[in-house]
Amino acid sequence: MKTPISSIKMSLQLLENEQIGPLNPEQSQLLESIREDTTRLLSITDELLNMTQVESGNIQLSLLPADPQRIIQYALNATRTQAEHKNVRIQWQGAEKLPLVFADSEKTAWVLTNLIANAIRYSYDNATIYITAEQSQSQVKISVRDTGQGIAPDYQDKIFERYFRVPGTKKEGTGLGLSISKEFMEAQGGDIYVKSEFGAGSIFTITLNVVL
Ligand code: ADP
Repeated sequence: MKTPISSIKMSLQLLENEQIGPLNPEQSQLLESIREDTTRLLSITDELLNMTQVESGNIQLSLLPADPQRIIQYALNATRTQAEHKNVRIQWQGAEKLPLVFADSEKTAWVLTNLIANAIRYSYDNATIYITAEQSQSQVKISVRDTGQGIAPDYQDKIFERYFRVPGTKKEGTGLGLSISKEFMEAQGGDIYVKSEFGAGSIFTITLNVVL
């Protein structure tokens, strides 16, 4: 499923670089919107493929010692363009030295990317998002804090259920990201949880086990 989408993206790049010929402003505009739709299609496909793994009870984990900073860096790079579009600042306030954790780097990076993407989506324009990481006993905790609309207490557990979306949520979405994230974190012996104040913002935290 992902191969044809990637090939659309490559063709788009050729067109955008004007290697095939110059573009007029209308054509550039059209390309921009095809690019946005393709990116969304790719991320929904990713969610559905991950969901298939979860549903079949067949999460393929590759647990290895991993550097949390690299996972965070990956997620920051993956969300940079989305943040720029909304003029949202992402502030990474890391501890100087974090221990290695036992993690499936790819899946954890997917979870963190999803949390930052949500923080951007559910924040107001020009907001700041804060990423922190710290060691707490035998765990590393990575948090994503936003100053968006927050989540009412009644919904704070429900958002981790499949297809659940807070009623009235206007942004487009599937309601799958957090439920997949929960399965991925628990499969690694870690966790994911939220603290949120309705009207003020949310803090999503993931935990991973330190390599002892
Ligand atoms: P999606 O965002 O695709 O709907 P998720 O599983 O990622 O799916 O999130 C489920 C719901 O939780 C969202 O629809 C939204 O209502 C709420 N939510 C998630 N993250 C945030 C956040 N940072 N601030 C406010 N609400 C959020």
